[in-house]
Amino acid sequence: MAISSSIPHRVSASPPVVQAALFPFLDLKTQFARIKNEVLAEVERVLDSQYLILGPEVEALEAEVARIAGSEFAIGCASGSDALLLALLALGVHAGDEVITTPFTFVATAGSIARLQAQPVFVDIDPETYDLDIDQLESAITARTKAIIPVHLFGLPAEMKSILAMADANGLAVIEDAAQSIAARYQDKRVGSIGNIGCFSFFPSKNLGGAGDGGMLTTSDPELADRLKVLRVHGSREKYHYERLGINSRLDALQAAILRVKLRHLADWTAARQRNAERYRNMFAELGLDSHLQLPAQPRDRVHVYNQFVIRTPQRDALSHYLRAAGVPTEIYYPSPLHLQPAFAYLGYKEADFPQAELASQEVLALPIFPELTEDQQFAVANAIASFHGIAPS
Ligand SMILES: *Cc1c(COP(=O)(O)O)cnc(C)c1O
Repeated sequence: MAISSSIPHRVSASPPVVQAALFPFLDLKTQFARIKNEVLAEVERVLDSQYLILGPEVEALEAEVARIAGSEFAIGCASGSDALLLALLALGVHAGDEVITTPFTFVATAGSIARLQAQPVFVDIDPETYDLDIDQLESAITARTKAIIPVHLFGLPAEMKSILAMADANGLAVIEDAAQSIAARYQDKRVGSIGNIGCFSFFPSKNLGGAGDGGMLTTSDPELADRLKVLRVHGSREKYHYERLGINSRLDALQAAILRVKLRHLADWTAARQRNAERYRNMFAELGLDSHLQLPAQPRDRVHVYNQFVIRTPQRDALSHYLRAAGVPTEIYYPSPLHLQPAFAYLGYKEADFPQAELASQEVLALPIFPELTEDQQFAVANAIASFHGIAPS
């Protein structure tokens, strides 16, 4: 591997010998070991009951998530991707409608729109928050626009006040993609309770991750809640009577039981992620790295829950190669914006259409931020970044 050739020549430190990662990017095993007994007891209880799909366990989780999101209702489903699809179905989005969202997100955000043969309309991002650029939103609204899907990316809530104002003025629905941001706050509200519907994911790498796939919708509109409950079970309220065309997207009782155990730890885990983010900020400041790196934005009216701690630098590729060689695990979210993906080529977008999303894809780098990360591990990360920049480790 040509490590040395990818390092800028002004770096004085010699490239480290390639080694295995010092620790995982996300250490789910350590987390599981600490709650294993609690989880196994719940799994046994659910298996003994043989109530396996929806039912009391799912209802209990729904009530708990509704409370965390500050919404009246929560409706469990099979994944965060399905939550987005169900939200669009419940709002009556169909073929030919337009839905505005960001190209700098996980594929499911726009995929759910396209799946209904509606049209994803992308708007470029703000280079600091990576969320929808409010100044460009209005010009994307047309007579066919039905909804906006802001994404609370990496755990930072989007600028919801402006989005809601624009939605209200134009009669549009707002679906929050809160997959990465459970318990994050915007002003006095939790994400999931700000738009018409909130969508959550329990994919294992999310802040509240299950033992497999799972998702949840939140809303305070009783009619939408009712519609979502019918839509997730084939459009049926009464057995073998189908009042609308739905899908099969239910949450398993086992997942719900495991998620309820983990939910008891969510506040602590979120606080640990926030503490880790602060530690990085302090370490980087001490090492004089702040002038070399763009750190995650933290607007004063929002509480970031750090599903990812994403730094930004024009030297991203060289830095990530250097860190890999030093045994420091990193990830790139996302290496290519959605408007340039083959699956969305039919939309007709081209390179340079969304310059901020494209540049972000080339410059972002996610550092380990999981709750169990130790201070020593963070020092290893910070010192490796410092030595890449020719700064002596502290
Ligand atoms: C994870 C994620 C989803 C999809 O959730 P799944 O449960 O994996 O289907 C949707 N949007 C965003 C922004 C995500 O991060």
